[in-house]
Amino acid sequence: MKALRVISADGVIGCCIESLPVPVAGAGEVLIRCQWSSVNYKDALAATGAGKIMKSLPMTGGVDVAGSVEASGDARFKPGDAVLVTGYGLGVEQDGGFAEFVRVPADWVVPLPEGLSAFQAMALGTAGFTAGLAVMRMEQMGLVPGAGPVLVSGATGGVGSLSVDMLAGRGYEVVALSGKPEQSAYLASLGAARVIDRKTLELGTRPLEKAQWAGAVDTVGGTLLGWMTRSMAYRGVIAACGLAGGVELNTTVMPFILRGVSLLGIDSVACPMAERLELWRRLASDLKPCHLDSGIARTVKLEALPGVFQGFLDGKVTGRTVVDWRRSE
Ligand code: NDP
Repeated sequence: MKALRVISADGVIGCCIESLPVPVAGAGEVLIRCQWSSVNYKDALAATGAGKIMKSLPMTGGVDVAGSVEASGDARFKPGDAVLVTGYGLGVEQDGGFAEFVRVPADWVVPLPEGLSAFQAMALGTAGFTAGLAVMRMEQMGLVPGAGPVLVSGATGGVGSLSVDMLAGRGYEVVALSGKPEQSAYLASLGAARVIDRKTLELGTRPLEKAQWAGAVDTVGGTLLGWMTRSMAYRGVIAACGLAGGVELNTTVMPFILRGVSLLGIDSVACPMAERLELWRRLASDLKPCHLDSGIARTVKLEALPGVFQGFLDGKVTGRTVVDWRRSE
């Protein structure tokens, strides 16, 4: 089978396409025939060595996969079942989803929910699951449409695009914050009411700036997240998802004790299975974005995959990148 391998040669990390034996599913494992996988920011960090993501090398990349069960060593799954896996140790602790066949522990496997195709599941992938978690958690904290504008940073990226789509679909007034003002029409097509050019943003320096946002999905981190804490409206809720702009967070306690702001940590990787199943059910129904089949996702074949990663690191990619493995069927 063909796979996208991340390798280390003379201390330099890179990736290449290799032929490997098809793995065998042992007890408690499932072998998935991959139909679609997807590219996330984390895959770009892993494949280029820009971030130390993989526990060992060489390893097959890819933190997401959707396909059908080829063989199963677990009674919960049988050949032909439509399934998906995102997160856990996929592409981090063990070979990932950029391969024609992917062997995983059965405990990681999610049945493809009714209402989603395998392609749509990967147009969502880890990015969509993260956006869904962000929306779900903010709403659990009381965010409702009509509460005020909801800001989405890194808005043209995977998590950002899907957050804009989901929130707009639920009736929120979505304000997209982006470093790509030339993509304003794209963001408007997903439902953004307004686009702010990140370069024109006045961050200010005060512990509390003008109160603007009822909610915020942040994929950027760093100074931008610090500014968000200072510009949330009373009882505003921030879902902190990402670090595309930095890992530090400088703020004061003032937003928390004077405006009752909540800062929610969003982790898609180790999300418990019961919550994971419920969220995938919702991603196929009331949280399902409107632009999964057209607008958000571009499709690449394996041969093009090594060339896509740098664009993620440069912040140049728009929407989601889905990898098509169906040619091997
Ligand atoms: P993408 O590469 O698809 O999108 C990232 C976007 O962030 C870019 O398109 C760009 O959007 C913006 N951006 C990039 N670089 C910078 C920068 N230096 N400063 C400010 N903004 C920047 O990535 P994903 O959507 O897949 O992931 C987004 C973030 O969320 C990543 O940090 C990722 O690691 C994290 N993540 C976390 C998960 C979790 O479980 N917590 C799961 C999935 C992702 P624009 O030009 O529109 O501003």
